[in-house]
Amino acid sequence: MTLNRVTPVFVLLLGSLWGGDIQAEDTPKDMVEYFTSSGFSTPVAIVNSPAGVYVNGVTYVTYQGAKTDPYIASYHHETQEWQGPYKAGTSLLGKDEASAKDSHGKPTMLIDNDEYIHLFFGGHGGSDAFGENELGNVFRGMNKHVVSVKPYDISEFEELDNISPFGNYNQAIKMDNGDIYLFYRHGAHRSNWVYQKSTDNARTFSEPVSFLEATPRTDIDAHHSWYAWATKGSGDDIIVSYDYHVCWNITSAPFKARGGHFAERNNLYYMVFNTQTGIWRNVSGEELKVPVTYEAANAKALVTETGLDNWTFNGSVHLDENNYPHVTINTGRDLGKINWGGPKQTEYYRWNGQKWLGGNTVHPNANNKNLDTRGDFFLNDEGGFTFALGYKEGEDEIISYFEYDQKNQCFSKVSDLVKVKNANWAMSPMIENAHPDARFLAAEKVVGEKEWRRMYLVGDHGAVKRVESEANQ
Ligand code: ZN
Repeated sequence: MTLNRVTPVFVLLLGSLWGGDIQAEDTPKDMVEYFTSSGFSTPVAIVNSPAGVYVNGVTYVTYQGAKTDPYIASYHHETQEWQGPYKAGTSLLGKDEASAKDSHGKPTMLIDNDEYIHLFFGGHGGSDAFGENELGNVFRGMNKHVVSVKPYDISEFEELDNISPFGNYNQAIKMDNGDIYLFYRHGAHRSNWVYQKSTDNARTFSEPVSFLEATPRTDIDAHHSWYAWATKGSGDDIIVSYDYHVCWNITSAPFKARGGHFAERNNLYYMVFNTQTGIWRNVSGEELKVPVTYEAANAKALVTETGLDNWTFNGSVHLDENNYPHVTINTGRDLGKINWGGPKQTEYYRWNGQKWLGGNTVHPNANNKNLDTRGDFFLNDEGGFTFALGYKEGEDEIISYFEYDQKNQCFSKVSDLVKVKNANWAMSPMIENAHPDARFLAAEKVVGEKEWRRMYLVGDHGAVKRVESEANQ
């Protein structure tokens, strides 16, 4: 595997699949809340971050479409015109029966300082076809990188061969100086989490650097594993929140008792990477040696211990105006022989400069098994945080904003954004540099419909609408 070589392998198919101009005869009654019905399986998720970027008056979004391939669309806020969606690449996943609905490789977006659009997608651990994974194990797929042929042009992409094929759960971050960091898990469950750095607008990347260590456990019959979420912090910092997965061996008692592998995950951790010094530290500023081990994480990076009976699904992290981190984690009781444990609540923790506070539940009704409805949150104009969360109320599946009230130390609902019946939501993280009218993507998963999803671009005033004939093409 050569990481520093730029190889435009082939230029992907040109042309809109179902573009077309807004028709003069269309009237407002022909507008719908979704911009396409071509989302596939689980088209977006928090851990594939971000799924959109706002720049120069345009919101660019990406999601998983047919055969799990990455698609891209854009919305011009002033003219209210949509472009796309266009197919932007071809994943190795989704092409055979075994991986037909493997949504792990859904796309991540980055726009570099030369104004080219990059998508990272298609990985679920890679395979032996790419040689030995020296930083973990393999499963399937191939982590890929495509870039737009022209600046800010979503109609044509080419492949670059410059990231590890073993990656999955990409999180792409551009620093103020233009340096680009791609964070991901370097393989299947039993793999280190790493980053690759680029100083030339993602045309070449450094070799992967491990920051979380996935090694065999010596105390029990299991393997260390992690789920991390990275985003830009203050100045030169990248901030990372994560939870821990105990990956039991097939010879272990829990594996035998449950009759298989379970998504047993616990605890919440936080740490900071200074990209200029290369030094990692905990929330108190104490240096951490990387890759961070399970023991070191528990000793120095713990936000909260959930206990072995409470299983987790990691959320996201953002800084407030004092540069203190605020973190979410989804937790619920292990219910025995259920892969995900029990239903999970989104809980909120915050650092006050001295200690972690919180554990507050964002909304008690958002307590179902569908983990994709756990949204992201953002720093609002009042200096507080606004959380977007999907939940059920009667027959409605709603996405609403919730805000935390410091004085009363509880959450209250601010507004409903979108509401559907007989469906679930899958939600993206917040769009990078988001316009208030277009902060995140939501996929409507109609109960009983196994493949196709309507995709919504949602902001402070609800969904950004589109002419129905375009959205349904
Ligand atoms: Zn595992």
